[in-house]
Amino acid sequence: MDRELVADAVVIGSGAGGAPAAAALAKAGLDVIVLEAGPRYETRDFNGVESEMVGKLLKASRAGDSGHELYAGACVGGSTVVNDALCWPTPAEVIEQWVREHGLASFGEAAYAELVATVLSEIGAAPTDLAHTNKNARALERGAKRLGWAGQPMARNVRDCANLGLCNLGCPTGAKQSSLLTWVPRAERAGARVIASARVTRIEADSGQVRAVVAEALDPATGSPNGTLRVETPRVILAAGVLETPALLLASALGANAGTGLQFHSSVYVAARFADPVHAYYGPTMSYAITEFSDVNGRRGPGLMLENVAALPLSTASSLPGFGSALAGPMESLPFLARAVVVLRDRTRGRLELDGDRRTRITYPFERGDLDRARTGMIALARAYLASGAEQVFLPVNDLAPVTAESELDALESRALSTRDTSLIYAVHLFGGAVMGSDPTTSCCDEAGRVRGVKGLWVSDASALPSNTGVNPQVTIMANALRVAAGIV
Ligand SMILES: Cc1cc2nc3c(=O)[nH]c(=O)nc-3n(C[C@H](O)[C@H](O)[C@H](O)COP(=O)(O)OP(=O)(O)OC[C@H]3O[C@@H](n4cnc5c(N)ncnc54)[C@H](O)[C@@H]3O)c2cc1C
Repeated sequence: MDRELVADAVVIGSGAGGAPAAAALAKAGLDVIVLEAGPRYETRDFNGVESEMVGKLLKASRAGDSGHELYAGACVGGSTVVNDALCWPTPAEVIEQWVREHGLASFGEAAYAELVATVLSEIGAAPTDLAHTNKNARALERGAKRLGWAGQPMARNVRDCANLGLCNLGCPTGAKQSSLLTWVPRAERAGARVIASARVTRIEADSGQVRAVVAEALDPATGSPNGTLRVETPRVILAAGVLETPALLLASALGANAGTGLQFHSSVYVAARFADPVHAYYGPTMSYAITEFSDVNGRRGPGLMLENVAALPLSTASSLPGFGSALAGPMESLPFLARAVVVLRDRTRGRLELDGDRRTRITYPFERGDLDRARTGMIALARAYLASGAEQVFLPVNDLAPVTAESELDALESRALSTRDTSLIYAVHLFGGAVMGSDPTTSCCDEAGRVRGVKGLWVSDASALPSNTGVNPQVTIMANALRVAAGIV
């Protein structure tokens, strides 16, 4: 080993699930080391160049069977560095389900509600005033209102936002209160050591007790291994994200049911061309949601949130159907495009496994019903945009001509659809793989986030959540991380 360290606790990963736990444990007096696989960038490093920042800040993966593209943050601060700053408290409907179906009574207690309130305040979540946002949000809001559908502006955790539309590329003004600017510095002020470019490869345990964490030191510029690191510790808090936490458990041969219970919010983009410029690449990237078909505010599904989203050039080009001249048409009208995303509360459950070479393999047998509901979401967005005055709506289905009137949606309604027909189906809200629950035959962690069968090992990230949340999940993940940390000290 090139470097040997000792700590009271090691937190693996510095995103929404890792950084709050590290801050809480350090504040409680533990000597904490955070090991983060990605490099540490600062606000000045975020230059707003889409092609460069996406490659640096995001890690992509793929579900082999369904073709879902999966994205997560890959630097200090994790996915909070690239997220859209949307803040939803855990919906009452989800809490009720977790208590009833998964035996997680503590989510229904006042202490959890207080943690959600703490998170909202600590990350500076505040309502978005649509009057000061952009035409992109207002195009969706106008359509929803004309159709009489429920919708609302979404809260965001930003301070003095300059409305540059670059949330997904790392906020270049430091307005977004990501973990990089909130929980990580808080943890450091309380004495935690954050070691970036250190990819954990194994958690060591013997006699049922965690002993140490082994990591590769990486060259921050190239990502190539250039050394090794071992930290002796009696406590490990695993928060490497859904694409990595279950893989680390499997690679370390720890935890029953690791890799099971994956669930996503499957997402597809819809774009619409208006006669007047929309400039959907400026302003808050996301700020308005149609909640008419969601599982929030007492509504009972079908589990669809319809949220406006920025139209950055590369992201828009890679999600519109067609190639060459078919793609050139809509891309030439980029300034006139509004754009939104269907965020589906999937019912599908998938699995993460390691192959013989310890490479991650994700299977996600996307249920017919989920695909049908995704289609319902696309059609609803098309209707909203048409009601809003759009001239053309671009649906993410191959060989489907742009829609100009509601009657043309029948073709999509009646078409037999497979995931291969969509131009892009992706997810950035990932859940499960090390789920909490009261039933040891189906869950990996107990209610406190402790991995069963090994002392000193907890999971505090989105992997531990027993299902998807139906809303953007960062606040829930952070509140749960604080809950897990409170049980450790
Ligand atoms: C583009 C995008 C937009 C989003 N928008 C929103 C939004 O507006 N609102 C919202 O609520 N949610 C949003 N989300 C989702 C939200 O940010 C994530 O659900 C949340 O950050 C996940 O928390 P986590 O701790 O599980 O993982 P992450 O935040 O991804 O953190 C995991 C960290 O672990 C590190 N890591 C991985 N493997 C290892 C290893 N082996 N060793 C050490 N470190 C490792 C990773 O580099 C990463 O930094 C968005 C996500 C993305 C990608």
